[in-house]
Amino acid sequence: MKAQIIDGVALAAKVKAQVKKDAENFLHQFGRKTGLAVILVGDNAASQIYVRNKIRACEENSIQSFHFCLPENTPEQQLIELIIRLNSDPNVDGILMQLPLPAHISQAKILSYISPQKDADGFLAVNAGNLMLGYPGLNACTPCGIIEMIKSTGQAVDGKQAVVIGRSNIVGKPTALMLLDLNATVTMCHSRTHNFANFSRHADILVVAAGRKGLVTGDMVKAGAIVIDVGMNRVDGKLYGDVDFDSVADVAGYITPVPGGVGPMTVAMLLKNIVTAATALKL
Ligand code: NAP
Repeated sequence: MKAQIIDGVALAAKVKAQVKKDAENFLHQFGRKTGLAVILVGDNAASQIYVRNKIRACEENSIQSFHFCLPENTPEQQLIELIIRLNSDPNVDGILMQLPLPAHISQAKILSYISPQKDADGFLAVNAGNLMLGYPGLNACTPCGIIEMIKSTGQAVDGKQAVVIGRSNIVGKPTALMLLDLNATVTMCHSRTHNFANFSRHADILVVAAGRKGLVTGDMVKAGAIVIDVGMNRVDGKLYGDVDFDSVADVAGYITPVPGGVGPMTVAMLLKNIVTAATALKL
């Protein structure tokens, strides 16, 4: 194996240590903890695990969490009323609506009620627009984590060729915009791209967020590239990335593992967003 591993657990611990300091400073300055409200509707097992992890991460880092666990048949209006209440709750700096929502609830409608200043996930149109325009705002957590991982290599991004595989609103598109902002030349690939390897083979930075186990193999990667594997594919209870780790690690310069890569960084960046939101609300 040639590649150096970008350790998401270690990097996330560093980010969380800084977040904890900032959260404690906030407490001393304003006399209350920063707070995250997490809303879960229904009993999706994976969502329950994600929510539990986020609440634990808050508690470990001096952030207060408020947990709303609602039954599957919760009426849309009731959810809207809860969000409106949380928008004006001075102890709540961030609101996280755990997705997916049950089929009878419109995800787009519900998210549109969250105040952009409390958009802990950075998913709202206002914040996506701020990112596109280069204005400050709350950014999506996974792309923020990806950028931190790339920066942690110490390699320059400016002027480099970056390829992002996947164009979702929560990972691919914001990641591409952030790389563009760092002056990379960015190419986006997706399911309709003819032979994405023609692009990925030229990438100094390759971000793979397709949700397809082992999609990228060593022959599709440039020697020395930074490869960020966002994929989380659960097969027979085991977690796999979108990158075939063994063959790619023989070629790449840096690689993120799955698990222990982008996942822990996503949670760390969520915590960072809460403190950012709390501080911005006080300015
Ligand atoms: P998504 O909304 O399903 O989007 C997947 C994207 O990949 C789409 O743009 C799709 O193209 C593209 N794609 C699918 N198959 C492809 C192929 N064979 N070749 C090229 N492109 C292909 O998924 P997502 O929400 O962005 O998530 C992507 C992966 O990251 C998933 O495994 C997810 O679980 C994981 N994830 C991890 C974290 C974390 O914290 N680690 C956070 C979020 C997501 P089209 O647009 O043409 O359909």
